[in-house]
Amino acid sequence: MRQYRIAAIPGDGIGTEVIEAGVEVIQALAARDGGFELAIENFDWGTDYYLKHGKMMPEDGLEALKPFDAIYFGSAGDPRVPDHISLWGLRLAICQPFDQYANVRPSRLLPGIDGPLKGVAPEDLDWVIVRENTEGEYAGAGGRVHRGHPEEVGMDVTVFTRTGVERIQRFALELARSRPAKHLTLVTKSNAQRHGMVMWDDVFEEIRGDYPDLEIDKMLVDAMTTRMVLNPKSIDVVVATNLHADVLSDLAAALSGSMGIAPTGNLNPERKYPSMFEPIHGSAFDIMGKGVANPIGAFWSASMMLEHIGEPKAAATLMSAIETFAARGETMPRDLGGEAGTREVTDAIIGLIEGRN
Ligand code: ATP
Repeated sequence: MRQYRIAAIPGDGIGTEVIEAGVEVIQALAARDGGFELAIENFDWGTDYYLKHGKMMPEDGLEALKPFDAIYFGSAGDPRVPDHISLWGLRLAICQPFDQYANVRPSRLLPGIDGPLKGVAPEDLDWVIVRENTEGEYAGAGGRVHRGHPEEVGMDVTVFTRTGVERIQRFALELARSRPAKHLTLVTKSNAQRHGMVMWDDVFEEIRGDYPDLEIDKMLVDAMTTRMVLNPKSIDVVVATNLHADVLSDLAAALSGSMGIAPTGNLNPERKYPSMFEPIHGSAFDIMGKGVANPIGAFWSASMMLEHIGEPKAAATLMSAIETFAARGETMPRDLGGEAGTREVTDAIIGLIEGRN
């Protein structure tokens, strides 16, 4: 029997609701498959933990996570604590030390889901946005001086390293190579940002020759937003900086129907540290505790996690349950125009996995 250890960090807000649902779903998959077992350990880190202990996770938290095969994460963020504390104290405090430099964000218009774009068929919107996840605009470099005085200065310094740029570009090029369309778009803003972004272009020119089988193009980030709306079919894999891809992937999630369905994986491709999988939505306090959060983003993330740990069959079973669920459209959650709550959606997916529906 193959065995895996998963660390579940539900975090805050609807993160706790969708991860609980996701854990049920992956246990149902393991039970149906019969060939593997998941030992899932829950970590109660997040804002409640912060309010009790003064930090989002314990000092030895990373040591505790290291032996796990993967981390299944909900959300960090709560109105009681400033966002930069919750983000840097938990999510980024795991991503950066675990060198999860490749943030992979698939977006698809699932059959049956009515996205905001007119006349776009599911096969026209099937993208993966690859986000550099450890440096760039969110490197954490910068500072504030003269606090509270009229001459106060605040600086966020963007940090690009040749190593960081080359490894994320190569990761995206390899990913593009593994997909049928074999197409990659490099997104920068190298007209206005004339140092680090020009280095992105230079590094790309040096390495793209290693991928003669790919179709490649380059775009400025502002033009890319327009292309995503007006010509979605022309896009396959996109690679961009931490900030640019953060914004583009929220747009991608909205264009594919709802924030509630979009997944992401924070990968350490060398597998020296565990990778982390999470829905891209946040804590969504407006709907917390109401039982209406859409858990599909958490399920899709779980499918990416199963693929990553080495259970591609279970990952595919889950993905096809999600596709069948969406195509039937009977138990849609509210953000997708239906009436179903988290429980009904979870039951419907488990029913499909178990072959009852
Ligand atoms: P963050 O924690 O990133 O600041 P947020 O808590 O403001 O995010 P988002 O995740 O950005 O919320 O989502 C914006 C809105 O979209 C939410 O307030 C909620 O109404 C809706 N939403 C997001 N995720 C879901 C979901 N899984 N199910 C239903 N609605 C959702």
